[in-house]
Amino acid sequence: MSILTCLVYNLNYGIRLSGAHTSETSIYNDLYWPLFFYDMGFVLIVPIILIQIVFGIVIDSFGELYLSNQTLKDDMKNICFICELERDSLEKEGISFEQHIQ
Ligand SMILES: [Zn+2]
Repeated sequence: MSILTCLVYNLNYGIRLSGAHTSETSIYNDLYWPLFFYDMGFVLIVPIILIQIVFGIVIDSFGELYLSNQTLKDDMKNICFICELERDSLEKEGISFEQHIQ
């Protein structure tokens, strides 16, 4: 068994069966407690990390959508969509931005 096969086996059965190495091992076996904590890692740590990754992706996506929407609203309030002059440059010339865009 190669190390890659071992890793795939552990991830596959570890996630699907929430560890399940301990159930086949006697409590008197020297490997019981290391396997117990390894299984608890699958029960507690792996799902938490996977959930955080999914939430992170979702929150990041919505954050980008919100930011692009906010940028669009700022552009609509401060830039003329015909000549692309900004509100500040128009008001420096003494022209009201509201009158310019009508
Ligand atoms: Zn204009």
